Amino acid sequence: MKVYLDNGSTTKIAKSALEAMLAVMENGYGNPSSIHSFGQKAKTYLETAREEIANCIGASAREIYFTSGGTEADNQAIYTAAVIGAKQGKKHIISSQIEHHAVSHFLQILEKDGYQVTYVAPNEEGIVTVDSIRSALREDTCLVSIMYVNNEVGTIQPIAEIGKLCREHQVLFHTDGVQAVGHIPVNVMEDLVDFMSFSAHKFHGPKGVGGIYVRKGITLERLLYGGGQERNKRSGTENVAGIVGMSAALKEACEKMQERSIYVKRMREYLYQELLTIEACYLNGSLDNRVVGNLNVSFACVEGESLLLRLDMKGIAASSGSACTAGSLDPSHVLLAMGKSISLAKGALRITISHENTIEEIEYTVDCIKHIVEDLRSYSLDWEKRIF
Ligand SMILES: *Cc1c(COP(=O)(O)O)cnc(C)c1O
Repeated sequence: MKVYLDNGSTTKIAKSALEAMLAVMENGYGNPSSIHSFGQKAKTYLETAREEIANCIGASAREIYFTSGGTEADNQAIYTAAVIGAKQGKKHIISSQIEHHAVSHFLQILEKDGYQVTYVAPNEEGIVTVDSIRSALREDTCLVSIMYVNNEVGTIQPIAEIGKLCREHQVLFHTDGVQAVGHIPVNVMEDLVDFMSFSAHKFHGPKGVGGIYVRKGITLERLLYGGGQERNKRSGTENVAGIVGMSAALKEACEKMQERSIYVKRMREYLYQELLTIEACYLNGSLDNRVVGNLNVSFACVEGESLLLRLDMKGIAASSGSACTAGSLDPSHVLLAMGKSISLAKGALRITISHENTIEEIEYTVDCIKHIVEDLRSYSLDWEKRIF
């Protein structure tokens, strides 16, 4: 049996997205900047997609800029806020210790450039509280950047509350919405965000395409110079097929969000109940405040990497955290920030379920995990002495 349970890393493309993309590649291959009918047809595809994506997140089409994905969107949004801040003599940024590297590694570059960054710690459930942001605010704070949903433990952050705080203090607010958009209801107006990043391949769209919501009135700073596409804010011929695929996937994800959530949550709950019957299995993150598809647990005296390899041999794809850190044996920075011990952080298993999965797959996975954990522990002296 082949079971894909790594939907936090990427998702299988939706049929609706695939078909929409094929249609564009076959019949809408013009350059949207060309004045002839081929170009104008592509332009129509592009602008219709922009309209539909905006609708799904409560934005207007003019507030959407397409990028090559979540990473570029995060970089460009933060860069823009940093430039705006510097013009006002404000070079302090607040972020958290649980951000994706597309945010945190860019912030490190800004630190080398004279910005000061406060990385607030999450609570033990992996939630960044609005109070922790309030305490970190300074006169010279120009930006708060907090992710909407954490990619490792699935926790949903209090974005609307943080948005309100930022608006009150006239501080720009960016949220990395990559794990939220298409998964939970998101409305940029209600959440009072100034920038929000999203990425198609996390909601069953194609890879290599995403975008930024930029609130009306804010001028996006360029990272790329060239032909002046995207109202001169993101040069480069538009990935029309990718953008149309993203729009189709997002539309479907939003329309079916409720029914899919119920279905996926049922599988997640069953999985969790079963895993809890394994001795010394601990939940990472919050049970209530998390996206339905995410389960992250640690098994004492089990190396996450060994567990993953053994699961892969059984045809099951899962993760030890984020794909970016998989392959290295470093424990997850997110779990450490939540106060987990190094050994439990190394024993973490992230299972991310989608509507494509079935209960039979989950039952098979439970069975495999139970056997593998027992087997791995049988070689552990620590486990024998229950040292953990
Ligand atoms: C996947 C991911 C990104 C990066 O998006 P890409 O489109 O892969 O560049 C950024 N932030 C979060 C939270 C993610 O999960």
